[in-house]
Amino acid sequence: MTLPLLSIVVPVFNEEATIDLFVTTITPVLDAITADWEIVFVNDGSRDSTLSVIRVAHDREPRVRGIDFSRNYGKEIALSAGLDHARGRAVVPMDVDLQDPPELIAPMVEQWRAGYDVVLARRSDRSSDSALKRGTAQAFYSVIAKLSDTVIPADVGDFRLIDARVVEALRSYPERMRFMKGIFADVGFRTTSVSYVRPVRAAGETKFNGRKLFNLALEGIVSFSTVPLKIWTYVGLAAALLAIAMLGYIVITTLVNGRDVPGYASLISVILFFNGLLLMGLGVQGEYIARIFAEVKGRPLYLVRERIGCPPPEA
Ligand code: UDP
Ligand code: MG
Repeated sequence: MTLPLLSIVVPVFNEEATIDLFVTTITPVLDAITADWEIVFVNDGSRDSTLSVIRVAHDREPRVRGIDFSRNYGKEIALSAGLDHARGRAVVPMDVDLQDPPELIAPMVEQWRAGYDVVLARRSDRSSDSALKRGTAQAFYSVIAKLSDTVIPADVGDFRLIDARVVEALRSYPERMRFMKGIFADVGFRTTSVSYVRPVRAAGETKFNGRKLFNLALEGIVSFSTVPLKIWTYVGLAAALLAIAMLGYIVITTLVNGRDVPGYASLISVILFFNGLLLMGLGVQGEYIARIFAEVKGRPLYLVRERIGCPPPEA
């Protein structure tokens, strides 16, 4: 049975050191599955020679294609752009640093042929990540599991095989503020998984610092849960009940003991505490309003500066 086009989607940001290694490693793996494959690089506004490395790779091997963003949009948007441009019957998003092992593609394709629409790559061992990264990731997944109705699996990344039907469904998610792991989970479809041990980065260095990861986590929570927005109703209710109870207490102690003059310290701490709560509530609303604002502006998700052997997606 010949396989229709298999697309590998690879977002790259300042990856001049890794692209060639990636292409030479994955080419024989893909050839063993089918000759009808393509690699779609999305150059996410790199400031090094990533673009020319992609151009050279395309000249050597025309099945390597790419699009060049007008600036850095971040991995989530780069991934979406790659999915927009992928033409395969099956599409596999991957990191360029070989942390997503190419050997896994064959078993994924097998599961896909067996009828699954989505084949997740499950990390059975994350010891290649730092303890801090593992710890914060675990904390994030347990928070989102409690706050969101969308079940986002904890031990899978963006590395997965998805059927063209699913890609089509993903394209219908118009949001500008994108948390792909959530969107992937939200579409559903028939899903299975294969396991692997996550290796360390083959070359170059990580593009995610603590701040970027924190923002990604915030994006995930705010995009996939309204609990932080709604919880203030209950916080406010609890505070009001507490205030009423306190009022009763004051009335009774005043009746029993007579007027009690001091109380500055307790008063000021209660005022400060509730002002803090109010500001926090406002801040959370701000997070959502900022996102509503970004959505209603309706700006394009990304702008393409140049196409390297990669035609625009058919409308
Ligand atoms: N990446 C991207 N845009 C960014 C940051 C990262 O396209 O703004 C790409 C990067 O080139 C790589 C993938 O996302 O192909 C994963 O990045 P990295 O390996 O640095 O992340 P980590 O594995 O450390 O979480
Ligand atoms: Mg990596």
